[in-house]
Amino acid sequence: MAAQILDGKSLAAAVRLAVKESVSRLAQRGIRPGLAVILAGDDPASRVYVRHKTLACEETGVQSRVLTFDRSVSQNQLVETVEALNADPAIHGILVQLPLPRPIDAARVLALVSPAKDVDGFHAMNLGALVTGAPGFVPCTPAGVMRLLAHAQVPIAGRHAVVIGRSNIVGKPLALLLLQKDATVTICHSKTRELEKVTRGADILIAAVGRAKLVTGDMVKSGACVIDVGVNRGADGKLAGDVDFDAVKNVAGSITPVPGGVGPMTIAMLLENCLRAATS
Ligand code: NAD
Repeated sequence: MAAQILDGKSLAAAVRLAVKESVSRLAQRGIRPGLAVILAGDDPASRVYVRHKTLACEETGVQSRVLTFDRSVSQNQLVETVEALNADPAIHGILVQLPLPRPIDAARVLALVSPAKDVDGFHAMNLGALVTGAPGFVPCTPAGVMRLLAHAQVPIAGRHAVVIGRSNIVGKPLALLLLQKDATVTICHSKTRELEKVTRGADILIAAVGRAKLVTGDMVKSGACVIDVGVNRGADGKLAGDVDFDAVKNVAGSITPVPGGVGPMTIAMLLENCLRAATS
């Protein structure tokens, strides 16, 4: 039987609608959530991502301000920009679009963002809150994955969740969120041996690598929930995830498509975080 498709696009649309309604209620109190995006360099994918984010802001009534810099931007310029945004009462959320051009020290820039405006959840204080289970901003992509799982009522407690990828912005926070929900979590990465042996034991399998068709049908347990975070652009210009969708959909119990799965949820979670930043 073909897997249930976990439709991130329609769930994200519902989240955006709820955000829009909250934003218009806030307007009656004279509050308009404001997001500032720092975009530096000429990475084409970053420009597309920022465009999607600002369009979503426009649609929901969140004010967005994009500050663009060319690739020769200095560390000091970015530091001063972040500091000015931290002090700006009209800006509730600050997003530094990664990657920053070399030789900018991205970690130093991110560390300067006020944790209260860190709507991407990348600041060490927010990541630390995630480790301890304290309140804080949760990175948008992992939050979006968890929302998809909750919406589809995928059982998590006591299940074996395997996360492929250990980045600070996707793999590690996702593993922590699954642990918070009482999953038994395994994190795999580029040095993991016999990846397929680990993935075959997964009730929930999440791929966050950036390699097309890394996860094949024979790596998936029958009935498993497969979440594809990967975004890869093929030679034909088409987007593909890390999962061989056509093969895996015949084995998995549920699966996210690419596009239309995790991507739209990431933006929806960003909007929710902006709303929260404006009201807390
Ligand atoms: P990253 O490059 O920081 O991390 C990739 C991880 O994959 C690393 O931890 C590495 O150890 C692991 N890895 C590499 N090769 C491997 C292999 N052969 N087997 C097992 N593990 C391997 O990437 P990231 O920022 O975490 O992003 C991962 C993917 O998710 C990318 O395709 C990115 O574009 C995508 N992404 C999508 C969204 C979204 O909204 N849909 C958001 C963020 C990232």
